[in-house]
Amino acid sequence: MIQDRTFTRIQELIAGYRHEMIAMQRELVRRNAVGPDNQGPGEAAKAAYLADELRRLGLTVTDYPAPDERVAGGQRPNLIALLPGRSQEKVWVLSHLDVVPEGDRNLWQSDPFELHLDGDLLYGRGVADDHQGIVASIFAVRALMAAGVTPPRTIGLALVADEETGSQKGLAYLLTHHRDLFSPQDLIIVPDAGSPDGTLIEIAEKSMLWLRLTVRGKQCHASKPDLGVNTLRASAQAIVALDALAREFNAVDPFFDPPHSTFEPTKIEANVDNINTIPGLGVFYLDCRVLPVYDLAQVIGKVREICQDIEQRCGVAITVQTVQQVQAPPATPATAPVVKALAAAVQAVYQRQAQPRGIGGGTVAAFFRRQGLPAAVWLSDPLTAHQPNECININTLLGDCQVLAHVFCQED
Ligand SMILES: [Zn+2]
Repeated sequence: MIQDRTFTRIQELIAGYRHEMIAMQRELVRRNAVGPDNQGPGEAAKAAYLADELRRLGLTVTDYPAPDERVAGGQRPNLIALLPGRSQEKVWVLSHLDVVPEGDRNLWQSDPFELHLDGDLLYGRGVADDHQGIVASIFAVRALMAAGVTPPRTIGLALVADEETGSQKGLAYLLTHHRDLFSPQDLIIVPDAGSPDGTLIEIAEKSMLWLRLTVRGKQCHASKPDLGVNTLRASAQAIVALDALAREFNAVDPFFDPPHSTFEPTKIEANVDNINTIPGLGVFYLDCRVLPVYDLAQVIGKVREICQDIEQRCGVAITVQTVQQVQAPPATPATAPVVKALAAAVQAVYQRQAQPRGIGGGTVAAFFRRQGLPAAVWLSDPLTAHQPNECININTLLGDCQVLAHVFCQED
């Protein structure tokens, strides 16, 4: 239990951080941290700024960088900041430093890499994903320190690289090379997804399968189509035929949101440059989020079967390559201490009943779960991540900061 008066004091302190939180968001948005897989500079500038801020607060900060030749300096930062508690056991908040690219700039109403304020709304790339987690956790720690509270558990803030492009230079690197940082007794919170009202505590996710389909035909002049084999037409037919996946793998599990598996055609690579050439090569991608009851090998088998049918019908050759294949790890138990702690904090701050659920998006929590570390993903999620005009409400940021502070103060 938490002393009511102590938590009220912490809430007052957090309310007073409003302008400083906006200022930190401004500094974070300004430091473009798109990763090198997306042709960005990486997280170094943002990490340097945050390491300074955390040290100024009085936390010990250690970098566990992952080597990466593609970025200036040759490494990707993974910061661990600790505030000692009465116990060695920890409460972790793991947020990520990197952001996704801004996409089509014309769709933005302001510069994606300059914070834009409109009343209580903050706009900019990363303000939600994942600055909301970064800023909320840092100011929650600051409020505890300002209130003179020594937390029951040691508080660990992990600010990692490379979440948006596979985590191999981020959490996966930490769990391979510095596994002893984390213990199954720790509470691990990943503030990177949730529902707008803060009532979704994500404890399970679907399996993820990304496929690259290459369609080979024969290029020719568009006025003489009989001399070639049109891969754009074949690709279109294949994309429509692949809708059969949703009918084949049609299980429904209301524990998940959405409750069924999804199979979406997404990216398509450029083919010919001119209108009067029939393309002889086509490449497109499928993003599949599959309920854990299915083995991903079954899905790949069905994709090949559908493609064989298209090959016969259209006279093309189709190869199916796996870009990413992640079978869902075991769920964090709905009764895990981290779930109970988050639910208690959401109740105290928002007066709402939070529920453990499964989601479709893959999160870094899967890396923890695969190693038997029970992690929960939670955020009052504005659902604007990866969109143009990514946006959060400052009041939500303040509320989530209180929720994390409440968890930090809870006695076991
Ligand atoms: Zn994120």
